[in-house]
Amino acid sequence: MPWIFVLLCLLVQSAQAGYQVTQVRSWQSPEHTRYVLDLSGPASYIISPDSTPGQVCVDLTSTALVPELPPEIKARGVVSHGHWSTQGDTLRISLDMKSEASPMVFELPPSGKSGYRLVIDLIEATHEDDASTTSTVQATSTPTQPVVAEVAPTTPAIQEKPAHGRDMVVAIDAGHGGQDTGAIGPGRIFEKNVTLAIARSLREQMLNVPGLKPVLTRSGDYFIPLAERREIARRHYHADIFISIHADASPSADASGASVFALSLKGANTATSRFARALAERENNADAVGGIKVSEHDGTLANVLADMVVEGSLEHSLRLGRDIIGELKGFSPLHSSHVEQAGFAVLKEPGMVSLLVENGFITNPSEEKKLKNPAYQHRLAQAILEGLHHYCEHNPLPGTWFALHRDDSSRVKSSLDTAAR
Ligand SMILES: [Zn+2]
Repeated sequence: MPWIFVLLCLLVQSAQAGYQVTQVRSWQSPEHTRYVLDLSGPASYIISPDSTPGQVCVDLTSTALVPELPPEIKARGVVSHGHWSTQGDTLRISLDMKSEASPMVFELPPSGKSGYRLVIDLIEATHEDDASTTSTVQATSTPTQPVVAEVAPTTPAIQEKPAHGRDMVVAIDAGHGGQDTGAIGPGRIFEKNVTLAIARSLREQMLNVPGLKPVLTRSGDYFIPLAERREIARRHYHADIFISIHADASPSADASGASVFALSLKGANTATSRFARALAERENNADAVGGIKVSEHDGTLANVLADMVVEGSLEHSLRLGRDIIGELKGFSPLHSSHVEQAGFAVLKEPGMVSLLVENGFITNPSEEKKLKNPAYQHRLAQAILEGLHHYCEHNPLPGTWFALHRDDSSRVKSSLDTAAR
């Protein structure tokens, strides 16, 4: 085919198609290989049912490739080769896998210098249970699943176990990471390391508790944007509960105590206290620190909150928060004795009961010492687990292990007691 004809075809296509892919970027984190497609507009996409465990195909409707982009796509991480193809006005990206990987695909709206983007994350089967190679927790192997079954949007990732009841999936989100250190204590202890240690301890303790399945959004020292943490929890793991782990900071070295936060009903500007608002602003800044600024318009927040109110997940977040505070107050000072509310970006996900736990002030010298102590980290994680367990027992979701074992509370209690040791 003469090149002029190819060029002409591309020009005709780009004229007909609604949107264009203007650039392809790729990189690798410890857990996944990522391809980002820069788009000229909000193109709709679907993970093609033609996908196989060895090849992931994503179709973008009414979309074309800008003529400057080559038809071949650079190999990276788990991807051995990739290419573009078109059928009618549908543009397909096909990525060949070196080993089995599950795709997670999501859009990002324009923010800062970036326009619309489509993100394709390829998570290798060995990372699916989020057991990091750097984790102190013993990695458990996960049976590999067919790629298509894993990504079909209507297929729950959690298989129903009729005789047993499915597990409640709990996404544990270690705040900050990578270039985003979070708050730094007077003894140079970084929040990102404290949060990861508590998250790992919580996961380790939860692994032994019947009815609960812990997953980590972050299992090593690397940066993840706030929106992606929610995406990992909800879209990839189909989490029921999301708990973001943090440590607090204050200009006053005297500020102390743990606190628990849910999303504010009225948005970021009407947090329940000045303290809550300042904190939400600081935690939301993580994306800017990490080099990404995902815009969170108030309109979006209003919609998210409306959804959460309708489905009751906000009310349930408050209930879970009260249960966790009830456990924390047994051994930790509390900065606030009730569940605070503010517009935390990381909590804005309908469909999940979502909380943020500030485990104490890293800027307070004596709390910093405690927060870096593995025994204290274990105790904090244990309190969160006990609160969570109490909540699940008293608010059992239909079809879950807790719903099926509702009247068997003594057994539940003893299993938690054993696991928590
Ligand atoms: Zn934080």
